[in-house]
Formats: sequence, C-alpha cells, structure tokens
Amino acid sequence: MYTNAIEMVEVSPRDGLQNEKVMVSTADKLALIRRALAAGVRRIEVASFVNPRAVPQMADAEAVCAGLPQRGDVTFIGLVMNARGADRALATGRIDQLGAVSVATDTFAMANQGQTSDGSIEAATRIINMARTAGRLGQVTIAAAFGCPFEGEVADDRVAAMAEALAAAAPVEIALADTIGVANPHHVSRLVGRVREMIAPIPVRVHFHNTRGTGLANVWAAIEAGARTIDASIGGLGGCPFAPGAAGNVATEDVVYMLERAGVDTRLDLSGLFSANHWLAEVMGRQLPGMAARAPAFPKQLQEG
Ligand code: ZN
Repeated sequence: MYTNAIEMVEVSPRDGLQNEKVMVSTADKLALIRRALAAGVRRIEVASFVNPRAVPQMADAEAVCAGLPQRGDVTFIGLVMNARGADRALATGRIDQLGAVSVATDTFAMANQGQTSDGSIEAATRIINMARTAGRLGQVTIAAAFGCPFEGEVADDRVAAMAEALAAAAPVEIALADTIGVANPHHVSRLVGRVREMIAPIPVRVHFHNTRGTGLANVWAAIEAGARTIDASIGGLGGCPFAPGAAGNVATEDVVYMLERAGVDTRLDLSGLFSANHWLAEVMGRQLPGMAARAPAFPKQLQEG
C-alpha cells in the first residue's frame, strides 16, 4: 500500500497565515501560492471568507482570488463558515472548492463560528449544497475531532455520528482535523479507520497540527489507516485564532521528505518546497518550525532549487 500516491493539500496561505500577527501583503500571499504551485502543489487553500474583524489576516481574500494564476490543473479552495462566506467565495469566480467546517464540541463551535456543534453540521450541509448548485465542489472538515481546547477529550462516537450526518450532504471529502495537536497515532488509526469505513466511498482527508510533536507520526498512522489526502503547510506555519495554544500545521516539506524517503509518491518537489520555506522565513522575519528545510541535504544530490 505504501506505493500508492498521496495527495497533499497546501494550507499555508490560509491556516498557515491566519494566526500571524504581522500582516502579510496580498502580493506575498500570491507569491507563496505561486511558489507552492511551482513545487508541484495542485490543490491549495488560498483564503478564508470570514469576518475580517475576527481574522484580519484574511481580509484580502477577494484580492488574493483576483490575483490567482489561471490554472486549469489546480483546485483552489476557499474556507467558509456560513452562507455569507460561501456567497463571497463563489462571487470571486476563482474558488473551485468550498471548504466548510463543522466542530465536534459545542464550546469550540461557539468560539470558532458562533453556533452549536449541530448547528455547524447544518451550516456545512448548506455550504456543500451551495457549492453543488454553483457547479463547484464542497468538502467539510470536522474540527477538534481528536480533542477540544475547551472540553478536552472528544468521543469517537461523536465524530463518527457527525461524519455520518455530513456524509448525507454528499461532500467530495470529509476531513478529520486535530486542530490543537493532541492526537496520537493510535487514536488516529482508530478514528480514521472507523470514519473511512462509515463514509465510503467518500474519502477521508486528515489535518494535523504539530503542537506536541506527534504530527508526522499521525500522518503516517492516517495513511496506514487508509487516508489518501494530507493537509500541510509550508514551513509548518499555522494556528487557530480561536483555539488557545494551537501551534503550526505539519510542515509540507517534512511530510514530503518522510513520504518520499518511504517510497510514497506525493508528486511534490522537495527542493522547490525548501526554497519556498526559506523565502517564507524571510517574509515572516524568523525561522519557521519545519525541520527538513533546515537540515543538510540528504541524499547529497538533493540541492536547493
Ligand atoms: Zn488547522
């Protein structure tokens, strides 16, 4: 099974930047997107269409969309929380896929998007239907699927019931997100396996944060459990403004290094990802959390492009 190709979804322009205090210019966001595409990324979260007062870093979502390259071979994703956000994303004419978010607990759902967990299932269902009506794709992420910053442990049964309810809306994919980075490989293996079986043939995507250093182990466990699509962020930037203590996403280049060395094809170019990391570190004015881009090249013929 390790020879199967894995699809990487690049989330740095949205999840990667949304929690950054320093405002990144629209031009730099577009440069980041171009660098990701040059490294082989074919599916990328470019912005979220949320209240700019709540997430100031995403206030230029429309401007980012207006500057996206014309690429028939790339899926541009816009994250939306409600019908208003979906309308905005669709109105740009550049978003191929709407990403909805349902939250596994009421407390986090209230903090993140001002609704109950069940309310977030209804909202996601509406968003998926809006995408379909507009001739676009709709997918949904179950946030805090492995643990909640406010309520603690999240029961597998709750996540499975949500996945079943969301599958009824026929999204193109359902993601399980470890929003605060508390998952472990055993938990991932169990929950991905269960949800995958439950929602088949709808595929499972996974989204991990490396808050406690378990990110890469969780990626591997998810692939072994049958997930074929992995979210990651160049440099390991990332965080959630509404989840206390949330740290970065798994770094794209670290995931790609691990998988390619293990014989799993990601279709991404590691040297292009390394140079994107180094460029982004200069934009952010600091070293980024990702590790592979800071290490000596291995094997030796792999040089920065
Ligand atoms: Zn995230």
